[in-house]
Amino acid sequence: MENKSIAQLAADLRLRTYSSVELTRHYLERIERLDSRLNSFISVAGEAALASAERADLALKSGDVGPLTGIPIAHKDIFCTQGFKTSCGSRMLDDFIAPYDATLVERLAAAGAVMLGKTNMDEFAMGSSNETSFYGPVTNPWDQTRVPGGSSGGSAAAVAARLCPAATGTDTGGSIRQPASLCGVTGIKPTYGRCSRWGMIAFASSLDQAGVLARSAADAAFLLDEMAGFDPRDSTSADVPVPDYVDALDDDIAGLRIGLPKEYFGAGLDSGVAASIHDAISEYERLGARISEISLPNSPLSVPVYYVVAPAECSSNLARYDGVRYGYRCGHPADLEDLYKRSRAEGFGAEVQRRIMIGTYVLSAGYYDAYYLKAQKVRQLIADDFRRAFEQVDVIMGPTTPTTAFPLGAKTDDPVAMYLNDIYTIAANLAGLPAISVPVEPAEGLPVGLQIVGDYFQEARLLNLAHRYQHVTHWHQAAPAGFE
Ligand code: GLN
Repeated sequence: MENKSIAQLAADLRLRTYSSVELTRHYLERIERLDSRLNSFISVAGEAALASAERADLALKSGDVGPLTGIPIAHKDIFCTQGFKTSCGSRMLDDFIAPYDATLVERLAAAGAVMLGKTNMDEFAMGSSNETSFYGPVTNPWDQTRVPGGSSGGSAAAVAARLCPAATGTDTGGSIRQPASLCGVTGIKPTYGRCSRWGMIAFASSLDQAGVLARSAADAAFLLDEMAGFDPRDSTSADVPVPDYVDALDDDIAGLRIGLPKEYFGAGLDSGVAASIHDAISEYERLGARISEISLPNSPLSVPVYYVVAPAECSSNLARYDGVRYGYRCGHPADLEDLYKRSRAEGFGAEVQRRIMIGTYVLSAGYYDAYYLKAQKVRQLIADDFRRAFEQVDVIMGPTTPTTAFPLGAKTDDPVAMYLNDIYTIAANLAGLPAISVPVEPAEGLPVGLQIVGDYFQEARLLNLAHRYQHVTHWHQAAPAGFE
């Protein structure tokens, strides 16, 4: 069952080849048996999952159901789930039971999807390796001495290991695409504002976007069909019509113009990764696309700009964790100031504290203009590069990450080396553009991801391009040894 696509699972459920309860049990049993090797789940819903599977089976009997009815999924533990632990990978929220569902959780539940549990993640989504989680690192199913990427590393590892057919994720600077790339799954970060952020714990509000990790573009399309769309509860939600992503999967791509930014193929790119990316691009040429070189001249500035803007916004967003209203509270505070200080010092891990300090610094009087304001101006230049590029080409392709998955612990002592993992992904967040990572030929046995960036609200085009490639290749179907 675990190797079937969502379309196949949905068809089987309709034919009663097995019930949603049986399917859910199957995944719960896989999680129980295999996740001790990965640590990809923070909490498993067990009984609650079986209860919603029973409801899905009743709905399936009545016949009036959508494609996700009875399909098990997992949510990144950054999405609030009513009555169920929502930790954001942090000691700060270790005891937090969300009082309401995030819009996306609500929408997927309304579509009949069954939540298996919540996936592990870097603390407050800050990280590229899943090593900043309070719940310990996640390992990569392809090689358990290596990282799965982050911050949605739990979702990526769980999907790759077939512990769930698909999972939600969030992407502020690459957190869906980078772990998707390192774990060999398909991950899409939609346009900023395409999916609601309501009930999604905030990291950097002008960059955060929810999306999907799945084994194929077609599977991702089924979830995105339910997730995308305007939400009046999110003031940055885009009120733009949502096309049917599943319907657009097979569209013809002949004549499509693909741009390869020369800045994405320079120094720092691993030669094995480069070779796999060039092979994938040749496949697109065979499918009738036209390839040309383009330039995104300001892209080398995207990492430095991000590491001013994201910490600035996080220092403001995380100010709410004060030990008073909810979240971790230190024991025996001497006075109010001691309560604030120790609750935050004990509740947040080292990387989160580093970001809060950087953010507070760049926003402080005297430094604001030199750092924050300057970064916002360069952010606009980066967006302008894309605007000009999309006058010449329809989509932009390149590697998702400069290397394949690295060993656990290899970069934990060097934040800057860790930050450079997102060198190709961050610009799409700064500009608010949609982007997808698609598994291509592995390099030395480890997954490689091709990134496709589209113009605003072109998610259907990205899924279509990924799907056409997956139609003629099999890389996305490979299962890691021990998890087949
Ligand atoms: N790796 C980046 C960071 O550490 C991006 C994280 C994300 O997209 N949430 O901030």
